[in-house]
Amino acid sequence: MTIAIIGAGIAGAACAQRLQQQGQHVVVFDKGRAVGGRMSSKRTSAGYLDLGAQYFTARTPAFSSQCQRWLAQQVIERWHGALGLIEQGMLGASPDATERYIGIPSMQKPVQQLLADISVQHAEVSAVHFEQGCWQLYAGADLLGQFQQLVLAVPQQQAARLLQQVIESQWQLKSLFAQIALLPCWAVNIELAESDSLPVQFDGIFVKQDAQISWLARQGSKTGRAGPQHWLVHFTPAWSAEHLELSADEVAQHALAALQRVFNTRVKAVATLSHRWRYAQQVADYPLLGALRLHDVKLGLCGDWLNGGRVENAWLSGKQLAEELAL
Ligand SMILES: Cc1cc2nc3c(=O)[nH]c(=O)nc-3n(C[C@H](O)[C@H](O)[C@H](O)COP(=O)(O)OP(=O)(O)OC[C@H]3O[C@@H](n4cnc5c(N)ncnc54)[C@H](O)[C@@H]3O)c2cc1C
Repeated sequence: MTIAIIGAGIAGAACAQRLQQQGQHVVVFDKGRAVGGRMSSKRTSAGYLDLGAQYFTARTPAFSSQCQRWLAQQVIERWHGALGLIEQGMLGASPDATERYIGIPSMQKPVQQLLADISVQHAEVSAVHFEQGCWQLYAGADLLGQFQQLVLAVPQQQAARLLQQVIESQWQLKSLFAQIALLPCWAVNIELAESDSLPVQFDGIFVKQDAQISWLARQGSKTGRAGPQHWLVHFTPAWSAEHLELSADEVAQHALAALQRVFNTRVKAVATLSHRWRYAQQVADYPLLGALRLHDVKLGLCGDWLNGGRVENAWLSGKQLAEELAL
């Protein structure tokens, strides 16, 4: 069977690797210049910057085993960053001692490893058509190929755009796309002046009950990332949704102000980098299916949005779909 997978994030990569192990012929398409999706780190002359996923945890035996393999292959390591918590404006140590992993030297490394022997084409799929039992994929007017099975491993809203016509005729898809599954997140990296430092001993800080920000991290606490002057700010889904169309510079100003507010200090930014994740984090009450296979239209869907919005859940979703496709 020839299978097209749209999306080379961790879900698409896990699905592709499993299908290839089962002897299927798989081609993966991704619009990004590199694979990894929301696990991508931005390469800079100072080192990588993690703007999306910050780390991942392993709560299931299957993903724990996968993490052990990645540890042995040296594509991930345990992150020993000191974790803090700001609650009601007070900063203290976080009681959460869960083991956390990071890709080295960048977040996408484990995705690259999964896709090492798989054909990946860097193209944005703009349309898909199901005709005479086959899927045709297009980038504009160009036919990318014809496949017996299609897997969509992209965020919900991006899958909806590609599947508009199919959704109308499939009741399972209608209910899956009726409610929004993923909310946005603005991420800003701030490089502080050499003379400035934040008065904190923590490397990652959960920010609770704040109307603006949810997470702060020192990039330099991770192997391969930019130095100690680089701080990452994640805005909350609600703030990000409300300010989605601000410019990158405007959001950077808000990030610097928030950093100064929570640490009650004045610092100067020498450079900022803002990234708008339009489809970032799972809506809490979205009903989870794990993955979905529709036999009659030879279509499969996987991704974090179907399984709970974390790296581990995205990987599990991709693997689940591959196993369902083998039946
Ligand atoms: C800011 C942020 C912080 C996060 N922090 C954490 C964290 O600390 N820990 C954790 O476990 N999880 C975290 N997550 C969630 C985690 O990153 C995701 O759950 C996981 O990476 C999703 O993987 P995925 O494969 O389902 O989707 P994605 O990674 O989004 O992959 C989808 C891929 O599809 C491609 N694509 C989309 N449309 C098309 C098209 N038309 N044609 C071709 N390619 C297309 C995209 O380029 C992308 O590479 C975070 C996410 C964000 C955004």
